[in-house]
Amino acid sequence: MSKVAVVSGGSRGIGASICRTLAQQGYTVLINYRVNKEKAEALASELKSLGFNAEPYQCDVRDESAVKELFSYTVGKYGKVDVLVNNAGVAHYGLVTDVSTEEWDIVFDTNIKGTFLMCREALRDMVSNKYGRIVNISSMWGVCGASCEAVYSASKAAVIGLTKALAQEVGPSGITVNCVAPGAVQTDMMKELSEDTVKMLEGETPLGRVGTPEDIAEAVAFLVSDKASFITGAVLNANGGMVI
Ligand code: NAP
Repeated sequence: MSKVAVVSGGSRGIGASICRTLAQQGYTVLINYRVNKEKAEALASELKSLGFNAEPYQCDVRDESAVKELFSYTVGKYGKVDVLVNNAGVAHYGLVTDVSTEEWDIVFDTNIKGTFLMCREALRDMVSNKYGRIVNISSMWGVCGASCEAVYSASKAAVIGLTKALAQEVGPSGITVNCVAPGAVQTDMMKELSEDTVKMLEGETPLGRVGTPEDIAEAVAFLVSDKASFITGAVLNANGGMVI
């Protein structure tokens, strides 16, 4: 029986690349999305046409009952959850003095509450199976902070804190919990940045380029693989050397 992976925010960007990579490696992949049904369905069809197992699944990770439903559906259909990748996330740019409480809530509810809810529900199954691999997608800004991204940086630092605590709590149950902290990656999330800003980011990156979704997917694939079975509580920087 193939391993089962749930990937939040799998409809586009980094999440879609993680879904492709894990499906190619033989995982049955649940492609979670919030609103982009067409993209999630197109990705599932693409993967199925290549002989892989993938299925789109709508769920807002901020919604506790919907998250519970996602895991009862997955365990009911596939019998287990081996891998959870918490990739769904939203960005926010602006001076901290301009941030509304509503904007704070959207970022925190998605990036950290959503990650917590997904971990909590996945772990019920993983603990009883005495096996699991969780990878949370943080950000290099969660590691070092970024000007004009205070809310986003704080939410991504919280993801790192959650990862380290959970790694200690569930390690005895055979479960690893790690983070990937991407640098700038060319996705819709970077659309708001001007060409000049992207050039500046490239210039500030020792490897001289911004990342691709595939760069991040490969880091995730490593952390969920048997090759990483002694690695837990780690923050794997995938940022071209921009933050070391
Ligand atoms: P993206 O292209 O904007 O895609 C975001 C994904 O998250 C979409 O699949 C979206 O679903 C999903 N999503 C958003 N809110 C959700 C919710 N409440 N419930 C379920 N799904 C939700 O973003 P990305 O650049 O690929 O980023 C992926 C992750 O990497 C994020 O956590 C981000 O913070 C992190 N990251 C990105 C960069 C970067 O430069 N791109 C750098 C560091 C870290 P829909 O398609 O349905 O809207």
